[in-house]
Amino acid sequence: MSLELNDVTLTHPDGDGVVTALDRVSVRVAPGELAAVVGPSGSGKSSLLAVAATLIRPDSGRVAVGGVETLGLRPRELSELRLGRVGIVFQQPNLIGSLTAVEQLVVTDHMRGRPAREARVRSMETLAAVGLSGKEHRRPHQLSGGERQRVNIARALAGRPSVLLVDEPTAALDHERGGRIMELLVEATGTFDVATLLVTHDTEYLDAADRVLEMRDGRLRVLAADRPGGL
Ligand code: ADP
Ligand code: MG
Repeated sequence: MSLELNDVTLTHPDGDGVVTALDRVSVRVAPGELAAVVGPSGSGKSSLLAVAATLIRPDSGRVAVGGVETLGLRPRELSELRLGRVGIVFQQPNLIGSLTAVEQLVVTDHMRGRPAREARVRSMETLAAVGLSGKEHRRPHQLSGGERQRVNIARALAGRPSVLLVDEPTAALDHERGGRIMELLVEATGTFDVATLLVTHDTEYLDAADRVLEMRDGRLRVLAADRPGGL
């Protein structure tokens, strides 16, 4: 199921006035599609992800996540929606130091109410899908930076979300590792049939994306698309 933003405007207070972080932004990402948003620092990329994740409510416009219209949902309903349908990959892995790779996933999946044994089976499958077979029982310090980012991605996918939101996944990695993480995200988008929206200021790995959009001063426009259909 898709991610859909329709005519979304978001402002932040700024001194006596406001700063427009998102200016009438519309975008739809289909299941199995990876859309990349590039743009300079301060252009509104993180704001876009926060709105898509339903962490911030826009001033106006509509946001539909995995087929669910979020306008009018109560905070409790929104957090259920997030837990069930949204996977978020932050720039920093934020893994728990004392937990093994598989435990990082089990903890989150268990929070969704999945029985522990089932969560474990599914977590092992997800780690295999991101290329971490054999490393399931390592703790973060026993993994490389690229592997930690893989665990981070696997954790976001553990609950089989409809929508995957990714903030600057390659920022902390060298060229080769960054390229492999990008490949992994493209592959996982297909394997898990998830609608992936990725933001980055890094223009290096964009060839792998199905669609590239550019954010400038809160406005979004198409840079390149593999498929017709525009925004
Ligand atoms: P990016 O992720 O592309 O760097 P952001 O979405 O973080 O851009 O920021 C977009 C604009 O909104 C910037 O001008 C930023 O200063 C402003 N902004 C972001 N978050 C806040 C906030 N919580 N309060 C006030 N201004 C904010
Ligand atoms: Mg940002």
